[in-house]
Amino acid sequence: MQLQFIGCGDALGSGGRLNTCFHVSGGRVNFLIDCGASSLPALKRLGIARDAIDLILITHFHGDHFAGLPFLLLDAQFTRRARPLVIAGPQGIETRLTQVMEALFEHSSTTKQRFDLSVVALKPGETQAFGAVKVTPFPVVHGLSGGPFLAYRIEAEGRVIAYSADTEWTETLIPAARDADLFIAEAYYYDKVVKNHLSLKTLEAHLAEIKPKRLILTHMSDDMLGRLETLDYTAASDSMIVEI
Ligand SMILES: [Zn+2]
Ligand SMILES: [Zn+2]
Repeated sequence: MQLQFIGCGDALGSGGRLNTCFHVSGGRVNFLIDCGASSLPALKRLGIARDAIDLILITHFHGDHFAGLPFLLLDAQFTRRARPLVIAGPQGIETRLTQVMEALFEHSSTTKQRFDLSVVALKPGETQAFGAVKVTPFPVVHGLSGGPFLAYRIEAEGRVIAYSADTEWTETLIPAARDADLFIAEAYYYDKVVKNHLSLKTLEAHLAEIKPKRLILTHMSDDMLGRLETLDYTAASDSMIVEI
């Protein structure tokens, strides 16, 4: 199984990085984690077959994680996608998806898809299986708008991938990512503690409890991007592939 960072940037395009979107593919699985606004051109640039993607997991409703969906759905319609697609995310996702589609492409939310589209709301703590992908959402803390906010612990092909989503430090990240084969964690700032986002120093203080087998930092601000050469950790970059 492999994970490719289609985009690993923040909402402000820091470092010229694309919005959050990770593509996981293996013998039995093919899914996206988040679908930020720039995801469709990024997927096309990397030559990734959108038709093969069965599932899109959304962590929250900020545009840099969610606003790629109208473009992806429009592209699926125009390219005559036949394969069913599941989009799963926090409570309220059906309404939010309709709203963002109408905002970007009027009447697109009422167009009947040629393919079978299911939109599924996930509840924190309730594990749900989508084919060979088992997903457990954990509540995280990321402010007052754009939520609910979910981190994911994902089991597939005998491996565990955890993603913090955007969040300030919260204890739920420990069970979400404990012993994960790959933990993708937000590291927005190096040591500055702010509301709604995680700094590397805060994360580092908890790594002994989390014990991920592999850690990759994502969603970095200019503050972090300016320190990449000196970090003791692996940082994501757009189009980077990791074998899991
Ligand atoms: Zn974000
Ligand atoms: Zn966010």
